[in-house]
Amino acid sequence: MAVLSLSDVGCSQSYGKSSPRINAVLLEIVRRHRVFLHCRKSEFLWRVLLVAGVLISVGLLVLNLSSLAQLGKSSMQLLLAFVVCDSLIYRKLYLAQRAVQKAAVNYGVVRHHLIGMLDIKFCDCRATCTCSQELRRTVLERYGISLY
Ligand SMILES: [Zn+2]
Repeated sequence: MAVLSLSDVGCSQSYGKSSPRINAVLLEIVRRHRVFLHCRKSEFLWRVLLVAGVLISVGLLVLNLSSLAQLGKSSMQLLLAFVVCDSLIYRKLYLAQRAVQKAAVNYGVVRHHLIGMLDIKFCDCRATCTCSQELRRTVLERYGISLY
């Protein structure tokens, strides 16, 4: 995983060495952000599967109930199989939603921590500098993580 180094964001090279803590927090926020995105993608896929399964089940039910189609016992078994699959998919979706919530909290805690670190001056620059703004901008551009 290519992680942002503090020396990437300009200002003095020394604060990357003087503040290994912020490097560790940066590494952790990028890792947790990726976990969060992965969980959200997984939840979305289960949701799509559930919608597709419910639509197919409803379609089969409508076909069975209509007098136009005489689908018989095999279609009822198929409908039952889809209902069972839908319930299993619903369970997976529920677990995926819980994973998203947990990942969001984990990511939010580290993000909040890093924002706090950036609000306090974290570098060794003696004069007024733009290290925090540069770091926020670079993290946003490189990883899509807003630290504002
Ligand atoms: Zn600075």
